[in-house]
Amino acid sequence: MKNIKDYNLDALKQEFIDMGEKPFRAEQVFKWIYEANVTSFDEMTNLSLELREKLKQNYTLCIYNIIKKQESSDGTKKYLFDVLDGNAIETVLMSYHHGYSICVSSQIGCKMGCKFCASTGIKFIRSLTSGEIVEQILAVERDNGIKISNVVFMGIGEPLDNYDNVVNAIRIINNQKGINIGARHISISTSGLVPKIYQLAEENIQCTLSISLHATTDEKRSSMMPVNNKYNIEELLQACKDYINKTNRRISFEYALAKDNNDNIEDAKRLIKLLKGMLCHVNLIPINKIENGQFIKSSNENIMKFRDYLNEHGIVATIRRELGSDIDAACGQLRRKNLK
Ligand code: SAH
Repeated sequence: MKNIKDYNLDALKQEFIDMGEKPFRAEQVFKWIYEANVTSFDEMTNLSLELREKLKQNYTLCIYNIIKKQESSDGTKKYLFDVLDGNAIETVLMSYHHGYSICVSSQIGCKMGCKFCASTGIKFIRSLTSGEIVEQILAVERDNGIKISNVVFMGIGEPLDNYDNVVNAIRIINNQKGINIGARHISISTSGLVPKIYQLAEENIQCTLSISLHATTDEKRSSMMPVNNKYNIEELLQACKDYINKTNRRISFEYALAKDNNDNIEDAKRLIKLLKGMLCHVNLIPINKIENGQFIKSSNENIMKFRDYLNEHGIVATIRRELGSDIDAACGQLRRKNLK
């Protein structure tokens, strides 16, 4: 069975043409899936019974079961979804005054091995398909009776290591007849897969790119993020500059502050030197403790000092609000969960 949510609108039209159906039927189906968020083909009442039958025989709607749902005291909700093959993934819903934001996973497990992240140390299983990515949004919308307004690819996995499916999912999320979320409200976060950053710059999608930088020397960054051994800071920033030139979009650099590790004023000075003149913004994250983790959160005082120092020297920096930390739903706390 094919997952009908794996197709962007153009691809679905082609599927319908191949089945001997009119392409506008694909548009109707697309609207049932993404606007009406139906859970069965039977609900697609403007299609003939015959076509509904044909769709049922060839496609699944990939409707997730909720295995577990946890709610934080701040309203953040963490979902554990059964992805229908014996594996499970986590997705987080956050509510802000300007709307709902969802943090989606792109892979079951992660290969990157960042030392401070809970997704490390568990086996990588596979990448998610586009349909499995977008179903996280639809399942959360159904469960809460809401429309999501922001999507961040900051759950489990390295989105640029699942490039084609992530870009295709963005096309579905962004399509006006699909989930209809503006590209500027979609963020991809990467640990720094340089060739894929160059590729993304060519896609003509206006999404926001976040770079997990976290350190200012290659030695330090390599000790926290093995990917830095392959693509060092200089190569990474060169790719970022190319991205900004081509897209005119501001890049967001993520920097998780760990006590006595990367939170010194000397680190701030080097960061300013690295980012000077770039169209960018620094997102400071108080590092979240993970099981057996070696990193300890910087003090609030130190985090504010770090932020102020950057701002005083021309680098726009803000501190990320910590949401959902009491249910292990904060940055870097998501883990692959197995059903078996
Ligand atoms: N693989 C992607 C996206 C997933 S992680 C990436 O690396 O960007 C989303 C963000 O959370 C990244 O910036 C990541 O570095 C950060 N993160 C991971 N573990 C963390 C932790 N323990 N505390 C704070 N931030 C963390």
